[in-house]
Amino acid sequence: MPSLHRRFLLASIHDVSPRFEGEVDRLLDLLEPHVGDRLAMLVVPNHWGSSPIIPGSPFATRLRGWADRGMEIFLHGYFHRDDSGHSEAADRLRARFMTAGEGEFLGLSGSEALTRVREGRSLIEGVIGRPIDGFVAPAWLYGEGALEALGKSAISISEDHLRIWSPASGRILARGPVITWASRTRLRLASSLAAAVALRRLPLRVLRVGVHPPDVHHPALVRSIAETLSVAGGSREPARYSDLLAA
Ligand SMILES: [Zn+2]
Repeated sequence: MPSLHRRFLLASIHDVSPRFEGEVDRLLDLLEPHVGDRLAMLVVPNHWGSSPIIPGSPFATRLRGWADRGMEIFLHGYFHRDDSGHSEAADRLRARFMTAGEGEFLGLSGSEALTRVREGRSLIEGVIGRPIDGFVAPAWLYGEGALEALGKSAISISEDHLRIWSPASGRILARGPVITWASRTRLRLASSLAAAVALRRLPLRVLRVGVHPPDVHHPALVRSIAETLSVAGGSREPARYSDLLAA
């Protein structure tokens, strides 16, 4: 277990789902040399309602394998976001789960958020054969209903852009921005590269790095991620989110 006096590096892969299996493999290749299995996998049970994780499937077996190796498994929304282009095939259950926008857990009522957390958690825990380590909302966006549901579910660990906390205890576990990259526009890509350079040397106790599947399609982002892990990892110990609970 990392000592209290050391500085921690927490790395996470967002949007782990069958939809992005190839990209997730490339992210693993990129991150593992720096952090080994001290890596959080943020898993979407049914990305866009069209990439379900099916118990017994090859992807489910891989997910369990990652958990068996010691990687942390977080629930990351349920559908991640609405995509009306995929709605023709929606059954009634899925339609009930659908919501507009990028931040799936931003506008949900407490009861709807609780339903999604329960359904997602039960699916993922059935697949990995152990409790999930926590919940991270898509786009790190939490509405009142989401916060209420996480407290009721006694989720151990959550995070947003600026902090990590325990909904179960209400304790703040760490503060400081997460380093992440964006590629949707050239401007956002450039500004995320600049932000990574500035943030990776911040003297925070806990430095977080969060990567996304589309990052692997941009060589400049891949280089920035590797450099950030190398710089941050030079003075920090790769850790698990759950290490913060013991600290
Ligand atoms: Zn996401």
